[in-house]
Amino acid sequence: MEKSITKKRNTQTATSRGAKIPGAPQNIIALIYDFDGTLSPRNMQEYAFLPKIGINPKTFWKEVAQLSIEREAEPLITYMHLMYQKAQEKGLQILRKDLVAQGREVEFCPGVEKWFGLMDQYVKKQSKGTVSVRHYLVSSGLKEIIEGTKIYKKFDNVFASEYYFEAYQLPYPKRVITDTSKTQYLFRINKGVEDVNRSINSHMPEGERPIPFSQMIYFGDGETDVPSMAVTRQNNGFAIAVYPKQKSAKICKELFDVGRVDFYAQADYTKGSALHNRTCLLIDRILSDIKVREEKERLQKG
Ligand SMILES: [Mg+2]
Repeated sequence: MEKSITKKRNTQTATSRGAKIPGAPQNIIALIYDFDGTLSPRNMQEYAFLPKIGINPKTFWKEVAQLSIEREAEPLITYMHLMYQKAQEKGLQILRKDLVAQGREVEFCPGVEKWFGLMDQYVKKQSKGTVSVRHYLVSSGLKEIIEGTKIYKKFDNVFASEYYFEAYQLPYPKRVITDTSKTQYLFRINKGVEDVNRSINSHMPEGERPIPFSQMIYFGDGETDVPSMAVTRQNNGFAIAVYPKQKSAKICKELFDVGRVDFYAQADYTKGSALHNRTCLLIDRILSDIKVREEKERLQKG
């Protein structure tokens, strides 16, 4: 069994991470990102895997869509299977380490690499060091490829689809994160139950959850993000829709017009961009809400 490589930035282990500390201050803001189309302009498989097996991305995704309909199959499982079926047809063996190596080829939207540090600094400054930021990735893409990207270590945790590599002749899906199952991971972040081996279902009072939804901002391009955006916002959190420069703002605008997101902006993460400014505005609001809550708590204690 492959060992998932868990956290990097924070020093907690997978099992202790997020363990509920009774009465712990809720002083963490979670920035949660989709990957494809949100942090990277294209789907991650299009940078190295598909070119390596000589398949045009448009043709590939079209075939995934067709097969899913024909077989009444989950599109995520279909794409994971088809990738390796195609590789096998070409006589190519692509191991886990090869997928990780392909991660180096993945490109990012402008400013992404510096964004994480910028946000950490901003919150630290605005809150005078009393509130910190965690960055989470929840992606339907492949964890193996994400591990090889330059930004992997920037995340406090990464939830993404994964393969078993020892099943039959072809790698076999080990974890599949669909549009709706993405929301499970939001609750894991919320309840501090980030170890995927632990059950998420037991009741936890709101006040004991390490990261309330009201302290989350979800970033997505809208393709597989609608359920996550809805869950975040219904629970008083925030959502921002982004579109890569190369693509149209249409989906984002529609999400904004029907009230599914708080803001939308081009996926430009550089300092001073519309996305940067709108994110800072939401962070300011979250920080004010934290202060109001803390003041109420002080008053209650007399
Ligand atoms: Mg996406």
